[in-house]
Amino acid sequence: MDTQELWQATLAQLQFHVSKAGFATWFKNTSILSHKEGELVVGVPNSFSKEWLENKYSKVIFKIIRELNGEVKEVRYMVGKPEALVKEAPFLQQTLRQEPQLELQGLKVNKTTNLNPRYTFSNFIVGPFNELAHAASLGILKNPGHSYNPLFVYGGVGLGKTHLLQAVGNQFFQESPQKKIRYVSSERFTSGVVSAIRNRQVDAFRSAYRETDVLIIDDVQFLAGKDKTQEELFHTFNALYEQGKQIIFSSDRSPKAIPAIEDRLRSRFEGGMIADIGHPDFETRLAILKTKAQELSIEFEEGIYEYIASHIQRNVRELEGALNRVLAFQSLHNKKPSLQEAKAFLKNVIQDKSTNVNPRKIIQMVAEFYDLKERELIAASRKKEVVRPRQIAMFLMRDELKCSYPFIGKKFGGKDHTTAIYACDKIAKELDESESLADELSLIRQRVYGG
Ligand code: ADP
Ligand code: MG
Repeated sequence: MDTQELWQATLAQLQFHVSKAGFATWFKNTSILSHKEGELVVGVPNSFSKEWLENKYSKVIFKIIRELNGEVKEVRYMVGKPEALVKEAPFLQQTLRQEPQLELQGLKVNKTTNLNPRYTFSNFIVGPFNELAHAASLGILKNPGHSYNPLFVYGGVGLGKTHLLQAVGNQFFQESPQKKIRYVSSERFTSGVVSAIRNRQVDAFRSAYRETDVLIIDDVQFLAGKDKTQEELFHTFNALYEQGKQIIFSSDRSPKAIPAIEDRLRSRFEGGMIADIGHPDFETRLAILKTKAQELSIEFEEGIYEYIASHIQRNVRELEGALNRVLAFQSLHNKKPSLQEAKAFLKNVIQDKSTNVNPRKIIQMVAEFYDLKERELIAASRKKEVVRPRQIAMFLMRDELKCSYPFIGKKFGGKDHTTAIYACDKIAKELDESESLADELSLIRQRVYGG
């Protein structure tokens, strides 16, 4: 292994010890400058990273390097331009560019289980918004294939579904490494079905899935309209279920609200335990931020956490994003930001969110949610599949933006204001009676604010 390879291998392992953001911040543009007589010199871009690496990461770096190359006796850090630019290190580049969810295809993922070891229970914060899903997940670990089978977890984007599902898989794998666990996204399952059919390997595909002890399928809302895949999943489900194997699904909405899904599959989704993940309350958001900061070995003044937690409410991923921005400020200016500075630095992220909502966005998001075209939603159609989403869009315009009834009517293809009043009243009344409508609306709202 030459020095560059040694450094790449070290970085690859370091990723398990450092969060993605920390990794990008502290290890970008680092390299090995020299390696002579047991002394290895790591080049870093500035004195701030030098200090940071020396204080926070030197132990773990030394340990990893020693494991890779026993000849190294000492590691020093020096500000210096990397000899070999990041360009020549495709692995590192790839890692730095990846988005959190894309990491799933990255190097860290376990090849057999397809699980990312980053997602564990120990770094999953539990609050009122997700405690049901969390408790059900723990129940599965105690008694897989029994009480909660299948488990169906649903909730909006960035609220921890993937994290939780993978944590179950990782924990199960740790406790029973001999068992077969498989995590798969719905897209991947779909493309598996398609290529199995194309290559005439349907039997092999089936038996591979039917051998699993725990099957986790993420984001099943993407199966909408995919008949062949649904059929395959239905039979796989039955085969596993009959053998008492555990199945876990996630979706961005409840089984009832997934469009174009066969009834028999829907009834399977609903046949075990359904747990929703809502929005984290203020205290939980604060706890999440502090835990993430701790993972990154950083600490900001209390007011900064509170500011972020009170302004970002609907998405854990966005909380992380805001924290990363404050961290970026710190590494850019070589000092901890004051609350004032953090606020200024976060201005775009936080302001955009609240001013970004407009009638157009509501129409777009409602159409997308119900898998309709925007013009169908606006046009005069009286089809049931369109009428209700249209009423919901009208309701949201009134509720979120306080639009006038004539304005709402006009937006929907020049309808009369009485139509808008009728729609808003109807949905409001239904909301009092139906919990699942409340869920549905909260998912749509999340899209409206999040996207
Ligand atoms: P989803 O699959 O629901 O879109 P993810 O599981 O990808 O959301 O979560 C988005 C990000 O937020 C991930 O980085 C995840 O680790 C983090 N996250 C979500 N929920 C929690 C939680 N309860 N505690 C800690 N981190 C969380
Ligand atoms: Mg996900």
